Amino acid sequence: MLDVLIIGAGPVGLACALEAQRRGLRTAVVEKGALVNSIVGYPTNMEFFSTPELLEIGGYPFPTNHYKPLREDALDYYHRAAATEKLELRLHEKVQSLEGEQGDFTVRTDKGQIRTRTVVVATGFYDLPNPLGVPGEDLPNVSHYYKEPYQHATQNVVVIGAKNSSAKAALQLTRAGAKVTLIVRGPEVSNSVKYWIRPDLVNRIAEGRITAYFNTTITAITPEAIEILTPEGPLTIATNFVYALTGYHPDEALLGRLGVEPDPADEAHAPLFDTATHETTRPGLYVAGTVCGGRATSRWFIENGRHHAQLIAAHIAARQPVSAA
Ligand SMILES: Cc1cc2nc3c(=O)[nH]c(=O)nc-3n(C[C@H](O)[C@H](O)[C@H](O)COP(=O)(O)OP(=O)(O)OC[C@H]3O[C@@H](n4cnc5c(N)ncnc54)[C@H](O)[C@@H]3O)c2cc1C
Repeated sequence: MLDVLIIGAGPVGLACALEAQRRGLRTAVVEKGALVNSIVGYPTNMEFFSTPELLEIGGYPFPTNHYKPLREDALDYYHRAAATEKLELRLHEKVQSLEGEQGDFTVRTDKGQIRTRTVVVATGFYDLPNPLGVPGEDLPNVSHYYKEPYQHATQNVVVIGAKNSSAKAALQLTRAGAKVTLIVRGPEVSNSVKYWIRPDLVNRIAEGRITAYFNTTITAITPEAIEILTPEGPLTIATNFVYALTGYHPDEALLGRLGVEPDPADEAHAPLFDTATHETTRPGLYVAGTVCGGRATSRWFIENGRHHAQLIAAHIAARQPVSAA
């Protein structure tokens, strides 16, 4: 039997595994996709907004020759940290539910079951996009994930959203030769867009290289066009592809099956947990990383979420005897 099973091999799940294993706890990580699966899904060559030392886990230095690391640097870094500490990884195995109680949990996955004394849920938020809720959203010319611009050179592309991901995608697509239309629900490009990206986007809109519609909503998407409602009335825009970059949210159904209770006082439906230990209301079950913020997915990120690992590992180690090897 394991002492600790961590669900999710993102940066924070790996940080939890390093800290638990270093305290002599028998630890494994179960991950439904690849190692650091969310970052695998990020845009090619994406530049992190954090400097490298703020993304470090387990005290391993993160050397890069860029001021801000790229996605590929982070993939190498987290792979290396996991390999160096010989973490036990069960990849491409999806957790479905949790039975039992502290000291003897059974985690059911699509490949079998795992017995463990405690469980840490570090499942992040990147798997479920926030839906637009309009007809045509599921068409093959619509995606909630942006990877790279080259397939869209000379094409008409609509980008929905006005935060960091949409701002970066709109700029990259424009520079790769796409004709970009940006659709924004609010009155302007969000002030939360990083200070080195926002002026670039605002200036491209001002000079007419990117067409932007503000205070505008989507009413439908077809294979050839997108229908929008602007303050001046409805409009149909011919488009080859639509990127709906409207954010993501944690898998609340999964959290429910694991026994993680939402905080009724939190409008973001964040889990109810003890902030000193990250233990939820189900004893022996912990939450770590982005999932701690519920639908407020920018409340916890790598920079601050990685510190959950020490709190959780220290609490588990103090409470239970270490398994015999
Ligand atoms: C484009 C982009 C840029 C970002 N840049 C930065 C930055 O510069 N600095 C920063 O601090 N943060 C940044 N963030 C946020 C940061 O990446 C996330 O906050 C971070 O990934 C959170 O780590 P995590 O380990 O909590 O979750 P995740 O990295 O999302 O990991 C969760 C893991 O759980 C797995 N999982 C989910 N469900 C199951 C299941 N049922 N069974 C098994 N496994 C499961 C997932 O596959 C995933 O691998 C960025 C986010 C995005 C989208």
